[in-house]
Amino acid sequence: MSVPTSTDVVVVGAGFAGLSAARALVRSGHQVAVLEGRDRVGGRSSTATIAGVPVDLGATFVGPTQDAVLALAAELGCRTVPTYDRGKNLIRWHGRVRSYRSTIPRLSMMELFDVSRIQWRFERLCRLIRVDEPWNSPNAHKLDGRSLEGWLRSVDASASTRNLMAIMSRVTWGAEPDQVSMLHAARYVKAAGGLDRMLDVRGGAQQDRFAEGTQQIALRMTEELGDRVVLGAPVDRIERRPDGTVAVGSAGTVVHAQAVIVAVPPAHRSAIQFTPALPEPYTELAASWPQGNLSKAYAAYERPFWRANGCSGEALSDEGPVFITFDVSPGDNGTAGPGILLGFTDSRSFDRLPAEQRCAQALSGFAALFGDAALQPIDYLDHCWGTEQFAPGGPTAAVPPGSWTQYGRWLREPVDAIYWAGTETADKWTGFLDGAVRSGQRAAEQVAARLTG
Ligand SMILES: Cc1cc2nc3c(=O)[nH]c(=O)nc-3n(C[C@H](O)[C@H](O)[C@H](O)COP(=O)(O)OP(=O)(O)OC[C@H]3O[C@@H](n4cnc5c(N)ncnc54)[C@H](O)[C@@H]3O)c2cc1C
Repeated sequence: MSVPTSTDVVVVGAGFAGLSAARALVRSGHQVAVLEGRDRVGGRSSTATIAGVPVDLGATFVGPTQDAVLALAAELGCRTVPTYDRGKNLIRWHGRVRSYRSTIPRLSMMELFDVSRIQWRFERLCRLIRVDEPWNSPNAHKLDGRSLEGWLRSVDASASTRNLMAIMSRVTWGAEPDQVSMLHAARYVKAAGGLDRMLDVRGGAQQDRFAEGTQQIALRMTEELGDRVVLGAPVDRIERRPDGTVAVGSAGTVVHAQAVIVAVPPAHRSAIQFTPALPEPYTELAASWPQGNLSKAYAAYERPFWRANGCSGEALSDEGPVFITFDVSPGDNGTAGPGILLGFTDSRSFDRLPAEQRCAQALSGFAALFGDAALQPIDYLDHCWGTEQFAPGGPTAAVPPGSWTQYGRWLREPVDAIYWAGTETADKWTGFLDGAVRSGQRAAEQVAARLTG
């Protein structure tokens, strides 16, 4: 499909936000063109296969209260399966592997007490945050003036608590605690419904996953939208015209429209030339809202051998590159094969390695937790989001100190006929698929209101 010359609304980006926005606009009777820079839809949701089983290179899990993405998936016939969590969880801490059964690992009494104390203080602080306008929260400037690490130190968090929070920071934002604003951390966790809701498997954001992979949801939305979705069409220019319309440029072609929804992460707005230039805070915002970096490794085995040893496949490690693992074997059928382990890997050390070394390091990380059987996979796969050529980075923005209070109010404030979507602009489950869907639906509503006067 080629880029049309005119339409009612152009949507930039065919991730969950852009596709949800397009779908809502089509349903309310508007013409839409979705321009996607990659040669695939889904954005940070991308499903591949390992040992013939679909696995997600990006977004995988879904949980209670993520009602927008769950409703969308149900409508499109994409079913969820529970994340396997029977048996012991493991923690590799200071060179020793120990087992535990809840979200909080078995540490010493003193260490556990400190984790609970810090969680309590964090949640108490979250209560005061205004998710919709974090810059207007009590103590906003103070909280935004320090990093999560700075806050942890200010409340005398122990080294073990800080290590655990660093694991949380890596998997949540793809960044270290000293790179993330405390105001951002608190707002983000509050938008997810609290630390337990965000981090737990049962009752939390990792409770379920989509049997056929999350990208299937994007593919089914694309099927509905048909040739309104144009792949390989990176938008490089958006012109606001004196008559209130926009001209959206992609590789030499131009689409004229009544409005445009830019559904890309804030950092990637910088790759688009806006004419006339956007007001300065918008440009500064894009430069101050960097994406984190997170990588994933999958190993497939004849059998989920760890289950036979009474392990759930869930593990934490303070030694990289694999720092969190899950069992994502197909079905819930005991010890039948294949068995698949997912490991989140630390992009700082992992991404720059050649492919064979990444594989060797990931497998030895799995083996350190689950035993030498992990060194004999039948298949292996990894993906480094930070090294993607187009629109790199993920899982979400790692917003540094100062950005929210200086530029936050412009994150989703329209500029004439330019509207903003993307999970980073959501107030509920921001950073997740659910936030992406909500943001797309919100932007579609705003644009529909503009088009109908
Ligand atoms: C490793 C990893 C694990 C994750 N795990 C989970 C999870 O378990 N559960 C969960 O809910 N979420 C998870 N996420 C986060 C989730 O993937 C994102 O929140 C969600 O996919 C964001 O959707 P979006 O539409 O806002 O943005 P994106 O998915 O980034 O979509 C933006 C689209 O815009 C395109 N684009 C960018 N610039 C341009 C341009 N100039 N012109 C045209 N197109 C452009 C991009 O190619 C992309 O397709 C994870 C992400 C990663 C990377």
